[in-house]
Amino acid sequence: MDSKEFREFGKAMIDYVADYMDNIRDRNVLPSVEPGYLEKLVPKDTPELGEDWKSIMTDIERVIMPGITHWNSPHFHAYYPTACSFPSIVGEILSAGLSSIGFSWISSPACTELEVVMMNWLGNLLGLPETFLNSSSGPGGGTIQGSASEATLVGLLSAREKTVKELRENDPSLSESDIRGRLVAYTSDQANSSVEKAGLLGAVPMKHVPADENGCLRGEALQKAIDEDKRNNRIPFYVVATLGSTGTCAFDKLEEIGPICKKEGVWLHIDAAYAGTAFVCPEYRPLMKGVHYADSFNYNPHKWMLVNFDCSAMWFQNVKHLVESFNVDRIYLKHQHEGHAPDYRHWQIALGRRFRSLKLWFTLRIYGVEGIRNHVRSQIALAKYFEELVSGDSRFEVLTSNLGLVCFRLKGDDKLTKDLLQKITEKKKLYLISCYYRNKFVIRFVICSRLTNSSDVEFAWKEISGIANEIIPRKFF
Ligand code: PLP
Repeated sequence: MDSKEFREFGKAMIDYVADYMDNIRDRNVLPSVEPGYLEKLVPKDTPELGEDWKSIMTDIERVIMPGITHWNSPHFHAYYPTACSFPSIVGEILSAGLSSIGFSWISSPACTELEVVMMNWLGNLLGLPETFLNSSSGPGGGTIQGSASEATLVGLLSAREKTVKELRENDPSLSESDIRGRLVAYTSDQANSSVEKAGLLGAVPMKHVPADENGCLRGEALQKAIDEDKRNNRIPFYVVATLGSTGTCAFDKLEEIGPICKKEGVWLHIDAAYAGTAFVCPEYRPLMKGVHYADSFNYNPHKWMLVNFDCSAMWFQNVKHLVESFNVDRIYLKHQHEGHAPDYRHWQIALGRRFRSLKLWFTLRIYGVEGIRNHVRSQIALAKYFEELVSGDSRFEVLTSNLGLVCFRLKGDDKLTKDLLQKITEKKKLYLISCYYRNKFVIRFVICSRLTNSSDVEFAWKEISGIANEIIPRKFF
């Protein structure tokens, strides 16, 4: 393909994506295909001769679209949002065009330096303590990881190595393997699955401390778990607190957890994957009170902040622990400017890294602080609107409502709500998922797409309440 054809193909694809967004309401949010559908639509082997790009364009509707779950659909209300915006897509195009692999400063100075600046912009935008920022005079700093899962693992690995190093410095008679075998980490039983996975990958037990009745990790429960492990000769070293849990968007009590972590010398990592974006609005910052206790903090602009996947922002109070843990050098990686700017390969798992800060830069410049705040506030207002609609129907109850997530159910036996969700899913017009709250089966309704408006919320409620009529006729209430 030459540059002439690339221009044609690229422009056709931009038009396709713009049309897709403009007409997305015409598509069911959930696909109707069965597993294995796709291999029947494509040849078994790679084509012997190169094809025309136009034949690829026609295959998008034939092969791909039937199997797409439309995360951008205004009727997608499952999980949490995956961000998507036009400036961010354009940033991805430039990143792909440059295809720089910024593992060190010299491997592409702009890739490192824009990321340094963007992490300062973001930190200030969220109102994080200055000590986390690259711009601070201290040892703090921020970087972009691929996902919150990676961030939790990176935090765990650096906490692990820091603990091993410090304990051996204090008592050289301790063997490394003895320390590693006694390490233990903690999180709440409401934490995301990725936290448990970080424990598995880091080869340490990740204990699930019971959350309180509101789904929040409390200091007393954490202290109890730590004390018990210490009595059993274990070494507590890492706590993951969640701001905005995946199930119900509950907030762990940082002001209780933080001082315990400090007292016990345990690394505190905060996973604010979804809810972190809310902190761009000053009125939501009380929800992160106690953030200064954290050793590392992470949230996903790729969830709620209009930056396409993957873009997960992570800050450290002291980057030295991380760099010391992850520093593996080779002669071919050396350069003459070492020490004057971060070599971000030491801050992450992989060696290679994409130019992710471009899409962040484009998005922040096109929307501005005002645009991002408007986005967050209007999505929360839509969730409140949905909550009002549900609360106005006596057959239903709202159990929790936090930021853009409302958890609701039909009153009575769980089976009613399970039937409701099953019927909603079978119709494919809306996509919602469930969780348990206080041992009750609830449906989660999240405002996800940036395109969702009040008519879409009314559409969703009409669908849900209409299906409820099939399960419990209104006259019985
Ligand atoms: N943490 C929380 C609280 C989440 O809700 C999620 C995903 O929804 C994750 C972590 C995982 O995020 P990622 O896909 O970026 O690893």
